[in-house]
Amino acid sequence: MATQIARTPDVEHGAAQHHDLFAVAVEQFHIAADVLGLDDDLRRILSRCQRELTVNFPVEMDDGSVQVFTGHRVHHNIGPGPAKGGFRYHQDVTLSEVKALAMWMTWKCAVVGLPYGGGKGGVTVNPKLLSSSEIQNLTRRYTAEIAAMIGPNKDIPAPDVNTNPQIMAWLMDTYSMIQGYSVPAVVTGKPLELGGSVGRSEATGRGCVFAIEEAAKSRNIDINKTKTVVQGFGNAGSVAARLIADLGSTVVAVSDSRGGIYNENGLDLRAVEAHKARTGSVVGYAEAQDVTNEQLLVLPCDILIPAAMENQITQANAGKISARLIAEAANGPTTPEADKILYDRGVLLLPDIFANAGGVTVSYFEWVQGLQAFPWTEEQVTERLRDIMQKSFHAIDTTAKHHSVHMRTAALVRAIERVAGFTKIRGIFP
Ligand code: NAD
Repeated sequence: MATQIARTPDVEHGAAQHHDLFAVAVEQFHIAADVLGLDDDLRRILSRCQRELTVNFPVEMDDGSVQVFTGHRVHHNIGPGPAKGGFRYHQDVTLSEVKALAMWMTWKCAVVGLPYGGGKGGVTVNPKLLSSSEIQNLTRRYTAEIAAMIGPNKDIPAPDVNTNPQIMAWLMDTYSMIQGYSVPAVVTGKPLELGGSVGRSEATGRGCVFAIEEAAKSRNIDINKTKTVVQGFGNAGSVAARLIADLGSTVVAVSDSRGGIYNENGLDLRAVEAHKARTGSVVGYAEAQDVTNEQLLVLPCDILIPAAMENQITQANAGKISARLIAEAANGPTTPEADKILYDRGVLLLPDIFANAGGVTVSYFEWVQGLQAFPWTEEQVTERLRDIMQKSFHAIDTTAKHHSVHMRTAALVRAIERVAGFTKIRGIFP
């Protein structure tokens, strides 16, 4: 890599090759910083996370035993405003992953122009092995442990992998109990009854499909004639699948952590959802053949929506992907080496910090509605989201063409420029 300054001490040179997630995020940052000609001081500041909290905390289980869990909350940068970012419950959560996701949140908020910095959280746990009351105990204690870092003007968490509106409600209640009064604006993605926004649960998938629609228009792709593959059939992926099908694309394959299903003539998504609700997985759906998640990524299709976990599109499979348009509903699904292969092959990749920004954008709408105690209609939410996704696509596309770089680097260039601007103008305290 062509940059002059040393990598941050916790990122070994070449660590990104092994897909350590924070190393990947830092490598992406330096690629864009090179394009921008960012000075070394700003690189040193922006390539590190400002605050990293790790907590080990006890939870009482249903059988009376006590287990100790490890969680994190990280602020990458709070220059533009309060930290914003979800928290996830997953057995593979590490501090490196949470730091990368926090950094990406800073860029994501900047690229769509939201007045937020970036944060993220997570607990290393497989929530599928816990009962609902154990998840509630875990959520309340994790919230208490990170309470000093969060708040409506400090850091506003939201849902991510394996966390949902009920979990946000427990977070909001716990934080409110600590403060002694109700603080709905401490979290977004809440149930509607507690001040959640209409359209928030669909926002990530919807924003992703607005991005695809605009990109397809700009490249003369007729969505009616396309086939789409979606990896991950959760909050982001299932909504994206439904909405792209509504636009006329044939969704031929979807998957979850247990595997995927493929029917070259198209899947009946309602029936797939019913099958998943009945059995817990899309696998085994009768009108399709089962495929692995590895096979799914290289199936014949025009549009690919990774909507599951990180490091899915790598040097090993990027050359075999048949899609001409990839929209990253997931965070970090593509490694830097794969980015280069896809760009050289002429694949248009809509990067995570743009393609899945619909979630944080409607979270922002929810926060604004909460602070003003004035709810919007679904139409207002959807049209404002559409406007932001459309304008952001054209801004990133113009930057990509101007610098002859792929869309991820272009999005990062725009985001880093904005956050670097805040940092420069504010100066360094004291
Ligand atoms: P979710 O828990 O609702 O769904 C995740 C889905 O991925 C599930 O179907 C799960 O079975 C599947 N999955 C897990 N591991 C997998 C694997 N190895 N291979 C294939 N499928 C796998 O989570 P979500 O909120 O939909 O998040 C999915 C992705 O979208 C994450 O990268 C998340 O960071 C990102 N994202 C979510 C939001 C949001 O608002 N929920 C916003 C922005 C980005």
